[in-house]
Amino acid sequence: MSPFTPSERRLLALAARRFADECTKTAHQLSSSSSTLCECQALAEHASRDVEQLERAQVFDAGREHLKRRNGFPDRTWPSAALLREVIDSWMRPPWKDRRGLFQRNVWVTAALARLGERGLPPDALIRRGLHRRFRLHLTSLVVMARADMAVREENSPRPPIAPPLLPWIDALASCTDQSISRDTDAARRLPVRLARALTGQFSEVAKSWLASSSIKDIIAWRYQAEPHSGLNEEDLAISGGTAALDWLIDRLELTQLEKWREASLLWELRYLDEPMDTAADAGISSTLLAERPTHFDSVIKALRRSVRYRMMHDAVLDGLSYSELADQVTTLIGEGRLMSAVELLEAGVAGQPYHQQLRAMLAFCLIPIKPERTLDLLNALSVHGTLSDGLLRVNRAAAYLRRGEVAAARSELTDVINGTRDSEAQLWPLGDLLDRRSTPTTLCSTTTHQWARDALLQLSTTLDAPESQGSAQRSNDVLHRQQ
Ligand SMILES: [Zn+2]
Repeated sequence: MSPFTPSERRLLALAARRFADECTKTAHQLSSSSSTLCECQALAEHASRDVEQLERAQVFDAGREHLKRRNGFPDRTWPSAALLREVIDSWMRPPWKDRRGLFQRNVWVTAALARLGERGLPPDALIRRGLHRRFRLHLTSLVVMARADMAVREENSPRPPIAPPLLPWIDALASCTDQSISRDTDAARRLPVRLARALTGQFSEVAKSWLASSSIKDIIAWRYQAEPHSGLNEEDLAISGGTAALDWLIDRLELTQLEKWREASLLWELRYLDEPMDTAADAGISSTLLAERPTHFDSVIKALRRSVRYRMMHDAVLDGLSYSELADQVTTLIGEGRLMSAVELLEAGVAGQPYHQQLRAMLAFCLIPIKPERTLDLLNALSVHGTLSDGLLRVNRAAAYLRRGEVAAARSELTDVINGTRDSEAQLWPLGDLLDRRSTPTTLCSTTTHQWARDALLQLSTTLDAPESQGSAQRSNDVLHRQQ
């Protein structure tokens, strides 16, 4: 049996309240229990508290709090979700790409870490145990790409210049004996092969020991020649619930959608909803910090059921990378203007896991700007069961039609998206870039499926007046071009 929907919960609470009032008026004759033991009022209060919690859980948005404060300084008024987002966003972004400059970036991250530290989350635990793998993957892919660029440069092809802070990292990669790349083998030229080698081989040990021994200041700055930290003990590096509890805390502060949490985090959450005080004590996390993010039993159960049915988010899909790690890599590659490498990486993943629906959906998404007809083939072969949202599939189908200039087909998909009940958060191609068929987008926009569909329809209705008839595709296409 499914958990109640939010509107059913509200109705039940209302019914319980009405019943309790009526029952009390009749000296509790309505219930079968005797008046002194009747639980009608307690039940009504329980139901109303439950709905209150559900409503607080529904409005929580991990990203919004940070967005609201984007230009401010991370001080004590910041919620922990915003502080963590500041740490993650700033640290993962290459220092030379930070518009604020290195000094301000370091001050901001250090301040955010300090505020989290005051709330019981030790900075060293967060950096060296909680986020270290994500950072390592991120750094490694940039270093591998830069090294590939250098190899090509030697063959006299123009390529973007390499950021100087990356150079010692590239040297470190080159000095790993398992990194020798024979130029003659096609396989060695392929990015997924190089990346996999760097992620699992000697270079991963170089990065691990750098993360373990360097000062936080240098780690934040990605400085290869780092000063050592001034000595750490186990209390600095862990909370009493261990890595699983730390991961749980990161998931609940970082990820709005419970579907994206690790399965172990969902289990911690279930226990926490049942026994908040004991669970907080076992995890070694303060109750105040945990109370900042409300969740509801129904949504935890729902997410857990999906994760049992589709154990895929955190299983390895390609050379030890999980699906969500691979998705991170793809986002990095897109941001570096290497959409083709992202496609190549995903093709390798899909070849190894042909039934992995999310992997195929992500490949389909990346192909929208370059091969929209293949996107449509891939998406049409996917089913919407399980982890894929119908709205997301439709919005991407619409994007592929738009890229092909098929306005009528796009419009029909977009209308279906808006008429669908579920609005999902999503990273999508920016509409403007997509409509300019001569350009390949290098950014993604954070939006929701409904919002994207509304914007697209608005743009179509205000700038295009394409007749909804056969043979209009070419005309609409021309109109699209003239818009640019
Ligand atoms: Zn009663």
